[in-house]
Amino acid sequence: MPVERALPTAEAAELLELTRDLAARELAPRAAEMEAASEFPRELFRVLGKAGLLGLPYPEEYGGGGQPYEVYLQVVEELASAWLTVAEGVSVHTLSCFPLAAYGTEEQKARWLPDMLGGDLLGAYCLSEPESGSDAGSLTTRAVRDGDDYVVNGTKAWVTHAGVADFYNLMARTSDDGPRGISTLLVPADLAGLESQPPERKMGLKSSPTAQIVFAGVRVQAERRLGAEGEGFAIALSALDGGRLGIAACAVGLAQAALDAAVDYARGRRQFGSAIIDFQGVSFLLADMATGVAAARALYLDAARRRDAGRPYGPQAAMAKLFATDTAMKVTTDAVQVFGGYGYTTDYPVERYMREAKVLQIFEGTNQIQRLVIGRALAKG
Ligand SMILES: Cc1cc2nc3c(=O)[nH]c(=O)nc-3n(C[C@H](O)[C@H](O)[C@H](O)COP(=O)(O)OP(=O)(O)OC[C@H]3O[C@@H](n4cnc5c(N)ncnc54)[C@H](O)[C@@H]3O)c2cc1C
Repeated sequence: MPVERALPTAEAAELLELTRDLAARELAPRAAEMEAASEFPRELFRVLGKAGLLGLPYPEEYGGGGQPYEVYLQVVEELASAWLTVAEGVSVHTLSCFPLAAYGTEEQKARWLPDMLGGDLLGAYCLSEPESGSDAGSLTTRAVRDGDDYVVNGTKAWVTHAGVADFYNLMARTSDDGPRGISTLLVPADLAGLESQPPERKMGLKSSPTAQIVFAGVRVQAERRLGAEGEGFAIALSALDGGRLGIAACAVGLAQAALDAAVDYARGRRQFGSAIIDFQGVSFLLADMATGVAAARALYLDAARRRDAGRPYGPQAAMAKLFATDTAMKVTTDAVQVFGGYGYTTDYPVERYMREAKVLQIFEGTNQIQRLVIGRALAKG
């Protein structure tokens, strides 16, 4: 069943068409081989940048696409159906541009945002540390003011695009006042003392480099601080609300790809003289998979439309991330089941989808943390 999209404008419909073409031509044919080789497709991000897909939800006056979030997310979903590494990369880049776009001064935005949205540069987001993951407010990387600079010392962990990014959004401690002692700095990747470590050896999403970044006496100009001193944690959380919707869209795209592969296979595979899709045990499994994907899509679109309308959407984003990523885990696992023994081999993509789905339940706040966000909102009333 083709995905039917309710898009707000003809321009958005064209954008989705362009994305589908690009994903089929440039992403899908390369995904399996490059994932197996753990190669990062840097050149593909330039192709996406030229097509205008690296700054979609930001204002056109700064070089963005001026698209509502609901459209941007459907683009991410299409990319994820073809190759999760690329969709996640677009989501992380978009997240990394948010602090400047939302909290920068007019002068800062005019100076740096057009290049960041222009398609040539790639961003990364540095919040997590080896000893502070879910409890991100306890981070210890220090930025100490020294004249016109901050001097940064510490280690950031799990940085997506570490070593390949052109700029890093860094959350660092500028005072001992807990989460209120954190500030955001926009750090160019080529500063002396900033060193990316060897990439983590991961279960999936292997083409997307994830590594620690060590900051050893890195001097960052104070004019690169975004927002006020101490505002960094609030900025980080606000960026994550939007980022979680990006992950939800990634999850829906991945789950849709697994569903499509499973339906195709079940139509063609015969046992006991019938196509296996004619066995109710298989078709009910596929029906549940399709229902989960449609529900997850509806949930992220609802949260995106709230965001586009300027309404609070944090708990809804957490619900979308939680439900969509749990659905992706279930749907990809069930897709392997539909393929039987063949599903457990690398001859078909579903084993990779299953490995890739797992991380979606972990990053940008584990699904336990999403429940915490939703539960707190319920408690507040
Ligand atoms: C591939 C990958 C890419 C990533 N990319 C980035 C990135 O670009 N930038 C970035 O900053 N970070 C990134 N991360 C880090 C990611 O956001 C963290 O791994 C995540 O927030 C969890 O932190 P942790 O790994 O330290 O786990 P912990 O916080 O140590 O959690 C361990 C377990 O305890 C549970 N737990 C913790 N606290 C609670 C609680 N209060 N209630 C219930 N359960 C709890 C967690 O849910 C989890 O199951 C990435 C991680 C991965 C794996």
